[in-house]
Amino acid sequence: RNSCVSDSSDSVISSGSDSDGQVYKVVLLGEHGVGKSSLARIFGGVEDSSDCEETGNTYDRSLVVDDEETSILLYDIWEQDNSQWLKDQCMRMGDAYIIVYSVTDKSSFEKASELRIQLRRARQSENIPIILVGNKSDLVRSREVSVDEGSACAVVFDCKFIETSASLHHNVRDLFEGIVRQIRLRKDSKEE
Ligand code: GDP
Ligand code: MG
Repeated sequence: RNSCVSDSSDSVISSGSDSDGQVYKVVLLGEHGVGKSSLARIFGGVEDSSDCEETGNTYDRSLVVDDEETSILLYDIWEQDNSQWLKDQCMRMGDAYIIVYSVTDKSSFEKASELRIQLRRARQSENIPIILVGNKSDLVRSREVSVDEGSACAVVFDCKFIETSASLHHNVRDLFEGIVRQIRLRKDSKEE
């Protein structure tokens, strides 16, 4: 079922373990249609998305960020089925989360807040890296959520924020480099 996952991309090299052999699980959350699978396919090095309408996928890559390699397993499984079991599993399994909304869809933005609250509840005492992503920034004329609203929400929810366009590949690399840096920061603070 990973038939449409190719092996190379300029910013990403094929999978392998990093210096401490650890692989970090990153889970994509967000309402249907906001662009989770599009972002995941870019991460996975899949350029053409048209023949890829799968409901659940996992992408295994290593990213070199700041001259250091980190292995990431990216889970695009939030919508794989509607079971509560899967939702609970997703909330428990991640080392880091990417919560996506569409800047053209206010209700997906509200849903993102809900997801952040659920995550906080599920993982109370843990300080998990989270990035809030406003995707579809290319759709200027149908924008319903401003950059300021997005970043204000991230401040309230104590997470990082970035706007992306999966269509234009804008800020997508920054997003995944950002999640790697967040993971490293939390890891370093735990080790001290
Ligand atoms: P998912 O349901 O969250 O996995 O969303 P998809 O990745 O399947 O994307 C839903 C639709 O939005 C598809 O038709 C995508 O081509 C489109 N889409 C995704 N990202 C962008 C983007 O950044 N800009 C625009 N204009 N369309 C996008
Ligand atoms: Mg999808």
